[in-house]
This record gives sequence, C-alpha cells and structure tokens, in this order.
Amino acid sequence: MTQPTSPIELTGSAHRLPAPPALPDGFAGALGAVCPTLTDEMEVAEASRDWWPLAMHWALQGQVLQRAAVVARPRSTAEVAAVVRLCHEHSVPVTAAGGRSGVLGASIPVFGGVVLDLTALQGVVQVDATSGLVQVLAGTFGPELEAELRERHGLTVGHFPQSFDIATVGGWVACRGAGQYSTRYGKIEHIVAGLEVVTADGSVIHTGGFPAGAQGPDLTQLFVGSEGTLGIVTTVWLKAHPLPAAERRAAYSFPTFEAGLEACRRILRRGATPAVLRLYDAPESQRGQGGDGTYCVLLVLDEGDPAIIDGAMSVVADECRDALVLPDDLVE
Ligand SMILES: Cc1cc2nc3c(=O)[nH]c(=O)nc-3n(C[C@H](O)[C@H](O)[C@H](O)COP(=O)(O)OP(=O)(O)OC[C@H]3O[C@@H](n4cnc5c(N)ncnc54)[C@H](O)[C@@H]3O)c2cc1C
Repeated sequence: MTQPTSPIELTGSAHRLPAPPALPDGFAGALGAVCPTLTDEMEVAEASRDWWPLAMHWALQGQVLQRAAVVARPRSTAEVAAVVRLCHEHSVPVTAAGGRSGVLGASIPVFGGVVLDLTALQGVVQVDATSGLVQVLAGTFGPELEAELRERHGLTVGHFPQSFDIATVGGWVACRGAGQYSTRYGKIEHIVAGLEVVTADGSVIHTGGFPAGAQGPDLTQLFVGSEGTLGIVTTVWLKAHPLPAAERRAAYSFPTFEAGLEACRRILRRGATPAVLRLYDAPESQRGQGGDGTYCVLLVLDEGDPAIIDGAMSVVADECRDALVLPDDLVE
C-alpha cells in the first residue's frame, strides 16, 4: 500500500506552536477501538506535516508547526464516519490528510487533536466501461489509479499534476487540483462526477455519481476545493476516457512572456484544446528547456483521435507563426 512521501527528513519533533489541549479522558482508547491509530511521537510528527516550503525549513531544525495528539488510519467509510462522530461528540479537532503533498500547510493539525490519515482507503472499486465512470477510494495515489485503468480497462482519467506520484484522489478533489493535461481533460472539478462524503457529525452523504445532470444545484462542486472543512471525501467518481490512439508534440520560443500568453489565448479562443499548453518564462525556460535566459518556451502536446489532433495542432501552428519553432523533443 502506497504511503505519503516525506518532503525532507525530520530529525526532531518539537512544536513551534504551544502544545494543544490534551485529549479528553478515554478518547484515545475509544478511537483505538474504532480503527488503527498511531501515537508514537515521531510517527505522529511525521503525519503532522506536508510539503509547505517554510515547514521544510523548520524540519531542518527538528521542528513541526504542530503535532496532532493521535493519528487515525480508518480502513473504510464506516470507520471514517465512526472517527468523525467520536471527535464530534468530544469536541476534538480533526484534520484530513491524504498524500500530504500540499504546499500550503493545509493538512497540518494546527489545533492538535486527530490527523485523519485517509491513505488506507486505496483502490479502484468499479469501472463502468459504457459511461467511462470510475469509482475510486479517496486515498488512492495517482500511479495506482492510472496503472489499473490503463492496464485492465484501456482508460485514462487524464489528471496528471506534477505531484501525481505523491498525491491522492481525495487530495486532488479537496484542493481543486489542476493537471498538466487539463486543457484537454479539464481540471479536477470537470473530471469529478460524484462523491461520498462524511460530514462533521459522522453522517455519510452521496452526491452525483452519474455522467451529467440538469437538476438542482450541483452539491459535488460544494466539496471540490473545500480542503476538508465541509466533510471528509471517502469515495470519488471520476470521468475516464479511452487511451489516446495518437500523439503529436511541438515547441516554440517567444521573445516575451506576453507574446506567448497572447498566442495561448488565441489558440484557446479558436476552440483548440491541445492536452498540454505550457508556457515557461525566461528563467524557467533556461532552467528546464535549455534556453539562454532571454526567451520563453511554449510546450504543446496533443493526444487522442488523429483527426482532432491534426486540427488542434494546425490551429497551434497558425497562432504561433511568428514564433521560432523549436525541436519537439523538448516536450517530455
Ligand atoms: C512538487 C509538487 C508539485 C505539485 N504540483 C501540483 C500540480 O501540478 N497541480 C496541483 O493541483 N497541485 C500540485 N501540487 C500541490 C498538491 O500536490 C495538490 O494540492 C494535491 O492535490 C494534494 O493532494 P494530497 O493527497 O497530497 O492532499 P494533502 O496535502 O494531504 O491535503 C491537502 C488538503 O486537502 C485536504 N484533504 C486531503 N484529503 C482529503 C479527503 N479525502 N477529504 C477531505 N479533505 C481532504 C487536507 O485536509 C488539506 O486541506 C504540487 C505539490 C508538490 C509538492
């Protein structure tokens, strides 16, 4: 079972904030009766941090911003609901955590209490080959999801954030994530079709779960980007697509970032949606694409049906006609 990836080694576990209130009497035992828990100081400290750059700096000094009192690792929706209900009844703070790849400290338990580690909820539950809907548990990491869909079903969800290897499906939803192929497949809010969520009192609710609808408000979207504040996402329904039959790549250089951005705008306004349309500024182009620090690089990749790719890449070439064409092997 895949585990979260540490951003940097932690050699101590002292708090930076004052220690939070102790757990109520009997709480830890009641929690331990519900699901596996961690109470070892170093394990709890490790589970109490993410990839926030400032926190990595503190980790070098052996400090975490705050340490939870205990880590709960539920293995089912029923166990998540029981943990949340218990915390609700005892007024104990709960902080949801997935891959802990967030870069803003959002999964740090600043109020202490329980870190609710959702990475024991892993796996693809069901795939509907007709609609392309995929039901997946929230703690599943990107590589496991895509490997199963590609190898067993010939499908892809097309969501590839740079943190693909270290983030979970639930974290993608909770953070309203964007992948590098989002121009074709959409950001996560366009890909998610339904959710199972445990709300603050331990109730389990379901939203959506079908490819499209035209009735009432879309409650799924209420939870997308809610960062664990409105509920704990336990299961996600995602839209998947047949594996692409073909792929084409291109790269261009622009004298200014503005000129590159304007080309991207014109491409999109004409309705072309190449899967990847990534413009790097001059310093980043020098760092990653071998630029000399004076020009900006636009990387383009499209995939899918060859006829649609030809159309999209023809619009791209037309709107980049004033740019310098670079070797397409720059697009990795
Ligand atoms: C090198 C690097 C590159 C990155 N690139 C991208 C990128 O290209 N695109 C992008 O969008 N992001 C990117 N990120 C940011 C981060 O990976 C994403 O925000 C990711 O979606 C977080 O997922 P996670 O499972 O790690 O969530 P965590 O970091 O564990 O949690 C993030 C937030 O979601 C909440 N949460 C987590 N799981 C659940 C759940 N099941 N239910 C309710 N709330 C939950 C947490 O409480 C917290 O508020 C990058 C991060 C790194 C370190």
